[in-house]
Amino acid sequence: MHTCADERSAEAERAEAEQGELCDDGSMTPAQHSPHTAGAAQSGTLLIRNVRPWGGGARDILIEDGRIASLTPVGEGSARVSVPEIDGRGLLAVPGLVNAHAHVDKSWWGLPWESFGGEPGTDGRIRHERAERDRLGIPGADITRTVLERMVASGTTAIRSHVDVDLGLGQRGIETVREAAAGFGGALEVQIVAFPQDGVLRRPGVMSLLRDAVQAGTESIGGLDPATIDRDPVGQIDGIMEIAGEFSAGVDVHLHDPADLGVFQIELMCERVERHGLQGLVNIAHGFAVAQVDAARRRDLLARMGELGMSMTTVAPPRLGAQQLPMRELEKAGVRLGLGTDGIRDLWSPYGTGDVMGIAWQFARAGGWVRDEDLTQVVRLASSDGAWAVGRDDHDLVVGGRGDVVLVDAENPMDLLVRGPQRELVVGAGRILHQRDGR
Ligand SMILES: [Zn+2]
Repeated sequence: MHTCADERSAEAERAEAEQGELCDDGSMTPAQHSPHTAGAAQSGTLLIRNVRPWGGGARDILIEDGRIASLTPVGEGSARVSVPEIDGRGLLAVPGLVNAHAHVDKSWWGLPWESFGGEPGTDGRIRHERAERDRLGIPGADITRTVLERMVASGTTAIRSHVDVDLGLGQRGIETVREAAAGFGGALEVQIVAFPQDGVLRRPGVMSLLRDAVQAGTESIGGLDPATIDRDPVGQIDGIMEIAGEFSAGVDVHLHDPADLGVFQIELMCERVERHGLQGLVNIAHGFAVAQVDAARRRDLLARMGELGMSMTTVAPPRLGAQQLPMRELEKAGVRLGLGTDGIRDLWSPYGTGDVMGIAWQFARAGGWVRDEDLTQVVRLASSDGAWAVGRDDHDLVVGGRGDVVLVDAENPMDLLVRGPQRELVVGAGRILHQRDGR
């Protein structure tokens, strides 16, 4: 996809004129294509001609007012007057990618290389980040916007981001991320988890900050290793889940604690999902413990989590090797799963590119998945099947689905996963968010 080619249609030029900015010579750069220059419309209308949804037959996808209005065989009945259109050149189309676990407030992406410092371990990294973030201007709207643009360029159109809430920042991180996300005019969706990175009970005052965040409309409340950070699992879990119950907010807890200790805390959360009526609202992030206990205990735990509508997110850490979350066991139990990038290029780690398809590759590779149906399912976890993380149950290339479409030069979803080609076109709610330059 490149709208600057000589054969660019007049319709495509109109689409660009409405949704982006052209160079004098007709070329388009990512910076100029920055979505926050694309007008304030909340949704768009666009005809994407000749693409192959999920690798199937060629279709024209018509998006009207941000939603997919039709998918018709190429050339059949989608001719419209005055609708901006793009020639998809037979590329593979998949739904917009969903990053179900990010930290878009933490990164030093766009700044000079920041050598890693601080002590190892979760608490050592927390202390290091607290000490150094002000020097780097973290959190900052410009940095967050750079991170969001990076994620969009890799095909992401919806993000659930944890955002630090602590005694030093208060709500400033959330306000910063809201400001950066607003620049995308609704074409990119960013939902926020108020995240007590520095602990909850061990930092008196943080619990009320979390309550304030949810009361002000933050979608979810976070937690962090209740046993090893606060050393009071019942206390932290009771506190955050009482708040969530009061406001019917989501809960999304980072749980690195291993094996029995981790599972014990998930069981505590299960009890409180029932107590506070939080069915369908509680997520366990990481949850390594699930893969570390014996099969019978895992089966019983997952069955209970499934009954309670609980979900899990993973960033597929390579250090876990094959001990990744068991995709098919979760699916069988009805436990929804999402993939995320975690923090990228930040004071915790220099790794990460912001491409959730790269995480999908890690997850599939580490898990030993090789069959087409399994590889396709991993791509679905990174897109349609991960969209529960932003509250969507209709995120797919279907009539009525949100007009979030990614085009790639790939044969099929499996090829996309294992090869990771560049994203040619990224559309969010019918608006062009990104087009690859230079071809
Ligand atoms: Zn995280």
